[in-house]
Amino acid sequence: RFILGLETSCDETSAAVLKDGKEILSNVISSQIATHQRFGGVVPEIASRKHMENITGVVDSALEEAGIGWDDLTAIAVTSGPGLVGALLVGVAYAKGAAMARKLPLVGVHHIEGHIYANLLTERELSFPLLCLVVSGGHTHLVRLLEHGRLEIIGSTRDDAGGEAFDKVARALGLGYPGGPLIEKLAREGTIDAYDLPRAWLEDSYDFSFSGLKSAVLNLLNRAKQRGEEIDKAGLAASFQEAVVDVLVQKTCRAARESDAATVLLAGGVAANGYLRDRLREALGADGRRLVVPPLILCTDNAAMIACAGYHRLMRGETAAVDLNAVADWPLGT
Ligand code: ATP
Ligand code: MG
Ligand code: FE
Repeated sequence: RFILGLETSCDETSAAVLKDGKEILSNVISSQIATHQRFGGVVPEIASRKHMENITGVVDSALEEAGIGWDDLTAIAVTSGPGLVGALLVGVAYAKGAAMARKLPLVGVHHIEGHIYANLLTERELSFPLLCLVVSGGHTHLVRLLEHGRLEIIGSTRDDAGGEAFDKVARALGLGYPGGPLIEKLAREGTIDAYDLPRAWLEDSYDFSFSGLKSAVLNLLNRAKQRGEEIDKAGLAASFQEAVVDVLVQKTCRAARESDAATVLLAGGVAANGYLRDRLREALGADGRRLVVPPLILCTDNAAMIACAGYHRLMRGETAAVDLNAVADWPLGT
């Protein structure tokens, strides 16, 4: 079986071909980062236009790299939400057109479910129940996976997403966009106790909150500027990263224990953060648990993860009709 996956929810135009739900034959990603960089973030209108310009070429390359033609495809899976509606629409319209023309089943995939399924491309044998920490540009969740298609969110951010906090702090430090990788790099030159930053524990809830931490960093920078004081930028990056990771690691470990999950998955763009990966692996290991993390290229947006989640939806008969629409705001697990 060959599934064509499509992803256009934000600023990556991606197409992938997946064989039998696990073997990646191609995963072409055309990033628009360079286009949006000078605006300091993604400009939705520009993102949709770029997707339109790129999608045909990206799909052609994905098929060519996989060494297959349209006639070999079994189904088309596309991210239909959540994300920027104009960006999503490009992938959804393309997928609907292609599915109709080629008489192929169409599958609408939840973008975050895709991020979670990147782990199934990494480890073939995963036994339920699993716990997944999802931290991306727009989402932060602790999710219990009871079986394929049965997800239970046990905690979410109450304000900023983890990746969003990285991006906002990076911007305040004048580092650029996207901020996560730049903060991680700078943090390697600093010490984690350079600044004393707050952590929101929210009692014993599995929810997260990162806006207080973000404000603390912004206030610190403003105060230093007013007083003409020097800032230890590397130390601030390291202390900020530590504050985010500290909360993520402790809550995930507690949730894994309570969920009786022997294996924990990490998903979303922030899963690319080496410090988070190391700290989480260490903490879970000390508790006799195992961490699975996708390779970097499968952590950030890509179509292989969408094809994988789409394959499992297809196996459950969850295909979409030709009236499939892009949904900007689609709660995970519904
Ligand atoms: P969502 O998946 O919630 O719709 P998105 O698709 O924009 O949002 P992703 O592509 O999953 O987000 O991830 C991008 C985010 O990951 C950005 O916020 C980016 O700063 C962050 N990120 C990427 N690499 C790293 C890293 N090494 N350390 C920390 N954050 C990172
Ligand atoms: Mg992106
Ligand atoms: Fe994403």
